[in-house]
This record gives sequence, C-alpha cells and structure tokens, in this order.
Amino acid sequence: MITVLNPATEEAIAELPSPGVEETDAAVAAAKAAFPAWRAVAPGDRGRLLRRLATLVEEHGEELARIESRNVGKPISGARAEVGMVAEVFHFYAGAVDKHHGETIPVAGGVDLTFREPLGVVGLIVPWNFPLNIASWKLGPALACGNTVALKPAELTPLSALRLGELALEAGIPEGVVNIVAGKGSVVGQRLVEHPDVAKIGFTGSTEVGRRVMERAAATIKRVTLELGGKSANVVFADADLEKAAAAAPYAVFDNAGQDCCARSRIFVERSAYDRFLELLVEATRGINVGDPQDEATEMGPLISAAHRETVASFVDGNVAFRGDVPDGPGFWFPCTLVEATNDDRIAREEVFGPVAAVIPFEDEEEALQLANDTPYGLSGSIWTRDGARALRMARGIDSGVLSVNSNSSVRVSTPFGGFKQSGFGRELGLHGLEGYSEVKNVFISTE
Ligand code: NAD
Repeated sequence: MITVLNPATEEAIAELPSPGVEETDAAVAAAKAAFPAWRAVAPGDRGRLLRRLATLVEEHGEELARIESRNVGKPISGARAEVGMVAEVFHFYAGAVDKHHGETIPVAGGVDLTFREPLGVVGLIVPWNFPLNIASWKLGPALACGNTVALKPAELTPLSALRLGELALEAGIPEGVVNIVAGKGSVVGQRLVEHPDVAKIGFTGSTEVGRRVMERAAATIKRVTLELGGKSANVVFADADLEKAAAAAPYAVFDNAGQDCCARSRIFVERSAYDRFLELLVEATRGINVGDPQDEATEMGPLISAAHRETVASFVDGNVAFRGDVPDGPGFWFPCTLVEATNDDRIAREEVFGPVAAVIPFEDEEEALQLANDTPYGLSGSIWTRDGARALRMARGIDSGVLSVNSNSSVRVSTPFGGFKQSGFGRELGLHGLEGYSEVKNVFISTE
C-alpha cells in the first residue's frame, strides 16, 4: 500500500494499492490496444476531446486545486494558478492537433512529403513538486500527436493525476488511451523504461534518476526527453531597478518552498550594489507569509517530507544572512534562508530543492557570466539590468534553456521549456513540445 500524507499536517489523506510490474504491463497493454483507434481519430475530433478535457479541468478547478494543495502542501492560491495552467495547456494542444503537419520538399523525379507520425505507447514519469502541471505538459502534446499513454505520478503525490485520469474518461477520451499507474519509481517507473512496447519516456525528475532512465532506455533504443534539476542564476547588476529585483528575488527561490527546478537559487549581485541589495532582499524575504496552505494569504507551505527536510537542512552551515520563522506543530516546515556564499560552496554547486538561496557578489559582467555558467546545470535564469545590450549579451552567453530579463518568469504555455547541459534535453510546452511526441516520416512519390 502507498500511504499519502498531507505535508502540512503529517496526516494520512489516502491509502492506495501499490501497483507492481503486472499492473504496469496491463497499463501498457491497454495503451497498445487503444493506439490504432486513437491515432486514427480525425484531428479535429482529437482536438475536440482535448478541449473537453480542458473544460472539465476548469469546471473541477477548485477540487483539483484543493487536492494538489493538500497533497503537496502548496498554498491554495498557487495551486489554483497551476490548475488554471493545466486547463490552458489542454486548450493549447487541442488547437495544435491540426497545426502540426508535414512539408513538401522539392526533389528531382517526383514529390517528397513528410508526415508527423505518433510514436505509439509513451511512458510519462512525473515528479512530486508540480504533479498535475507537469503531467499536463506531457499528456497534452502526447495525446495531440496521437499517442497513447501510461503515466506514472510520483508516489508521494498521486492524487491529482488519478483524478485527471477520471476526467479524461469523462471527457470522452476512449478507455486505454490514458492509463495512470500510481506506483513506485523503482518498480513502475523502471518497468516503463524497460518495457519493449513503450516507445518513449517523457521524464521529469532529478538528474540522478534521469541518468539511470537514459541508461536503461538504451536497451530498447527508446526515445527519451529529460527535464531534470537546476541551479539557476539570478544576476543583478548595479544599474538594475534594485527595489524591483529584490522584491521579486525571494519568489524565484521560495515559491513552492523552493521545490522548483527553475529556482534561481544562486543570486549574483554586482559588488558595488551588494550591501544595499542584500538589505532589500532580507526585507523582502522577511515579508513572505509562511503557514497553512489552505489559508488564502499563505505564500509558502512546508516541504514535501521529513526525509527531504533533512536533506535541505544539511546544506545550511555557512554564513546565514537571514532565517525566517515557521509555524509550530506538525508539518515538514523549513524556514526561508539566505546564505552569503561563494560559487564554490556546496550550497551553490548542488540543487537544494528547498527555500535556501546563496547570495554571491561579482565584480563585472565578465565574471558574472563566468560564474553563472560555472555549474553542471542549465535550466533557467534571470538578468536584471537597465542596459539593454548587456541584457542581451548575458542572455546569449548563459548556457541555459529558459532565461528572462528584468523578470523571473520561466514558464508559459506557448513557449518552449527545457534544459541545457545536465538539466536535460528536449523541450516541453508550445509547439516545440510536439516534436518530442512524434516521429518524422519521409515519403517519396515518383512522377516518372
Ligand atoms: P525523482 O527523480 O526522485 O523522481 C521523479 C520521478 O521518477 C518520480 O515519479 C519517481 O517515482 C520516478 N523514478 C524514481 N526512480 C525511478 C527509476 N529507477 N526509474 C524510473 N522512474 C523512477 O525526482 P523528484 O524528487 O520527484 O523531483 C524533484 C526533481 O525533479 C528535482 O531534481 C527537480 O529539479 C526535478 N524537476 C525538474 C523539472 C524540469 O522541468 N526540468 C521540473 C520539476 C522537477
């Protein structure tokens, strides 16, 4: 059995059977059986079914947000915004079904056509930090392209994906097209990666597990896309709007209690503005409202588990510039923490995945770029400056998949998201997301 906890209260909120290899194989078999009919559904009809799913997500928005908030410990306001994005993702891919098409290519002696073919059964493996959101980023394009799916949510947070599976059926998506297998990574996840009938794994999770997925997928030459960890830079130049940058910086680390692959957890500040910025940053961090996720005013909830809290705590041993308060009583709480550090310290090298940020000074643009890139990761990042040319130089120079200037936003439904270096490969969201769930076929027709 899997016992599902509410991390804000440590209470069990569900007991679920723990599916094994047999159940995983049954899900893959169901997806395989459903594939021929699903790929043959006319594009307009497939789009209509996805749109109905989007509408059902909207209609059940409050219910899904409450599930997510209780299971992950997310503040309810944030959970509502995430569910809103889930609906938008399905709307987007509903509209994309008939816009992802092939080409005709001029060649001698005939006509050359390309087709976008579905892959077949795809295995989708999702982490616990944004369970429903990340499930939708994969499900939307996978279904739009005509694939059938076995989706494995994280064992800590299976509830929203199980509900989404019910809504997919209610929307009229045929049985067998979407199969949710809410089991353990080492059992269900591994079986999906090894299963000969699974054509592709869309994986989001840690770099460590991603590496293993890639190794094991090699045996069947499975396609893989990997959305992995990050250690992103928030680079603040002295000429930036310091008040604005400092007010925004805490939310770029402490949102979702820092359990965010895009967390800009290395805050680089130009030396001449360092003291002033740190003062502003501490004040802004002090203002974050930490507490009961069900409270409308709460901005940060607990960590996901006791074990994870221990890992996060192990990172904080340096020069602490600020440590916030946490509620008394049960719950896996960890305070917002700012640490003055260098880029060589463990806290700046490894993904903490908690509400802990390293603040690091730099001398000039050249050093800022060198430090930002001195990491094995390359997921997101921000540049704060009023100098447009410098902003563009830095944005082009940082080896990272998703950058923002004078903003910390990373994710939009219509724009590509994904990593460089050990943050993974492949892109989700936008029309780029469709590339990972289709294969290009080339057909030549002789006219001679
Ligand atoms: P994790 O790697 O421990 O688990 C991710 C998923 O993989 C879970 O569903 C887990 O059950 C499954 N899994 C575990 N072992 C497996 C195996 N041997 N074979 C197949 N599947 C297996 O990650 P997590 O702790 O759930 O999530 C946190 C990590 O995810 C962080 O590193 C974070 O940066 C990353 N993440 C990345 C993105 C992104 O888009 N780049 C987004 C969110 C989270």
